[in-house]
Amino acid sequence: MTATQPSTDRSARETFASLNPATGEQIATFDIHSEADVRAAVERAKRAAAWWAGLGEPTRRQRLRNWRALLVRRTDELAALITQENGKPTGDAILEVTIAIAHLSWATGHARRVLGRRPVLPGLLAINHTATCEYLPYGVVGVIGPWNYPVHTPLGSISYALAAGNAVVFKPSEFTPAVGSWLVESFAEVVPEQPVFQLVTGYGPTGAALCTAGVDKLAFTGSATTGRTVMAACAQDLIPCVIECGGKDPLVVAADADLDLAAEQAVWGAMFNAGQTCAGVERAYVERSVYAEFAAKVVQQAGQLQPGQQYGPITMPSQLTVIARHIDDALNRGGRALAGGRDSVQPPYVNPVVLAGVPEDCPAVTDETFGPTLVLTEVADEQEAVAKANAGRYGLGASVFSRSRGGAIARRLDAGMVSINAVLPYAGIPGLPWGGSKDSGFGRIHGPDGLREFARSRVITRQWFVLPLRLTTFDRPRHAIGQLKQLARLRWGSRQRGV
Ligand code: NAD
Repeated sequence: MTATQPSTDRSARETFASLNPATGEQIATFDIHSEADVRAAVERAKRAAAWWAGLGEPTRRQRLRNWRALLVRRTDELAALITQENGKPTGDAILEVTIAIAHLSWATGHARRVLGRRPVLPGLLAINHTATCEYLPYGVVGVIGPWNYPVHTPLGSISYALAAGNAVVFKPSEFTPAVGSWLVESFAEVVPEQPVFQLVTGYGPTGAALCTAGVDKLAFTGSATTGRTVMAACAQDLIPCVIECGGKDPLVVAADADLDLAAEQAVWGAMFNAGQTCAGVERAYVERSVYAEFAAKVVQQAGQLQPGQQYGPITMPSQLTVIARHIDDALNRGGRALAGGRDSVQPPYVNPVVLAGVPEDCPAVTDETFGPTLVLTEVADEQEAVAKANAGRYGLGASVFSRSRGGAIARRLDAGMVSINAVLPYAGIPGLPWGGSKDSGFGRIHGPDGLREFARSRVITRQWFVLPLRLTTFDRPRHAIGQLKQLARLRWGSRQRGV
């Protein structure tokens, strides 16, 4: 048994294989961990959590910086494994790892400032007290991850949870267990003493077991359907959870947009990573006066993309059916294919697809397609663009292209993250919170909110002297409440002028 793996008798275990989505070749096999295995891992994590918390923030910071340095040194090795298991091109894999390192660095460097003890002004009613607030680790955080960004996405929870002083038990997607295992083993090289960061592997039931295995907090990233199941499981023991789900992100092109930039970013946002990005661009609302020109630029650029070169295969074979269904349905209901079409699904690849004139209630507009597809819709004006962009059941990210109206439009978009004149920059800005609303989930990873997501507040107050006006005692003098009312009138009773 190593510090990172649940103890198992491998001969008696059920296993599953991780496959290369481009070739179908087997990469490795992994145990399907049972409920008992997961529970045992969480038990070990509890002891490790006490040890990790007890090290203190400066020592944890040092260890996490060592892990950061290891990740930098071995980026190529990790990126190669991502390419093998997820299918994305090496350049995109290196970009993913580098963004994840930036987050680890930020979480490590800011944990003390964000979570450390700080004085809080006591206010009028407790003027004889001092007060402090600090954020303590939960203990053991369970992290359940997806496969589309097998490093960046789970580390968005794991790095922040570790920096906040928790131990982590990680259940990676069944499509990317080798990447998950690499992360856990590399961490054990810099923290060999205790299983502070452990791996459990398997399918949905292993993830379900993690929700009820005694973790103190659960961080889930995946589909909204699974998110609901996870939340219901966590509810049994009132385990707090952060739920990061999918999106159907809109892009708005205003009449005064830089159309070259907008088209280039729309095609990138829709099609990099084969469109398998939770906050990728799936639909574009374009003002009428620039629609034809924008559409022509998008079609021209999308037509130059080569699956297998600029982006990889569809990682999860079942998604090919979903993508084909969305395209078929859109075309059957009056939509037009400006690029690609029904034949674009060529397993395991999907050629770029640009659709137009698709009714707003088609799955291609309402549901996550998660393929290299983009739906273009012509709108009369900014109002219609905003209304249509906000109409969906997801609320993760959004982008707007405009030279003069960017801020005004962005503030009206109903999304957790909105970018102006670029797509997805917020993923690489570690100080910003990441997350959405509606079916995109709730809670936040990244930034100060992300650190606090993995910590609970503890306040301590101290009374320094007893006030003459004693309110919280059975010996309260008769006149005390009258004096309190007078005080409240003086302090808060005046009306605000002009309101
Ligand atoms: P998924 O919901 O199928 O699976 C996610 C994880 O949950 C996997 O590890 C899976 O094994 C596990 N799981 C399955 N059933 C479970 C259960 N009953 N209890 C506990 N765990 C269970 O999602 P996926 O296909 O792996 O990932 C793609 C989805 O993730 C897309 O919707 C995408 O938009 C979303 N995503 C969101 C973000 C974000 O930050 N908001 C980031 C990346 C991906």
